[in-house]
Amino acid sequence: MALNGGRPASGFWSEAGQLVSAVSRAMAVTLRNLFRKPVTIQYPDVQRPYPDRFRGILALVYEKDTGEEACIGCRLCEYVCPPQVIKVEMRKAGKRNYAKTFTLELYACEFCELCVQVCPTDAIVMLKSFDLAAADRRDLLLDKERLHALGLQFEPSWATGNRLRDMQAPPKPARTEAKADAKGEAKEPAE
Ligand code: SF4
Ligand code: SF4
Repeated sequence: MALNGGRPASGFWSEAGQLVSAVSRAMAVTLRNLFRKPVTIQYPDVQRPYPDRFRGILALVYEKDTGEEACIGCRLCEYVCPPQVIKVEMRKAGKRNYAKTFTLELYACEFCELCVQVCPTDAIVMLKSFDLAAADRRDLLLDKERLHALGLQFEPSWATGNRLRDMQAPPKPARTEAKADAKGEAKEPAE
């Protein structure tokens, strides 16, 4: 039997064939993808639109009709927040109350959205952006001014407290059933 460095020649040619075949297949994949449109983008110079239901960083908003701060300082968001990252102080005023101070430690937020769900005035919202990277976690301790500025900077998500609570309400009875109930018609038992 012919030997090549102590190994049978047939083993050498078989391994060389496998190597050439593997390199050819890899090069074929490379060539196929060389002319494809890339799926990546040059973020942050190019940004993809977020879906409507995207929920990102949190913010406070102003009322659309009056331009006043929507937050009434009720502290419901503070009570419901599982990691307790929200702190609110209420300022009492004549017609309505306001938040005297409002802080949110975004670095410890779980993005569970409970604060948004309980807010009676839709004052706290999630935004269609996650663009808040920081090298120092103290930059992610957001005060009232910064939360309002974020609310003006980015588009809010579709979800607000009132919309989410409406979705969780028990379903209304079908119209025909409701009419029959109102007339006091008894349903005949099925045979
Ligand atoms: S999203 Fe959840 S964890 Fe984050 S602030 Fe709101 S309630 Fe707290
Ligand atoms: S953000 Fe909403 S739930 Fe939180 S204190 Fe303000 S009004 Fe109350």
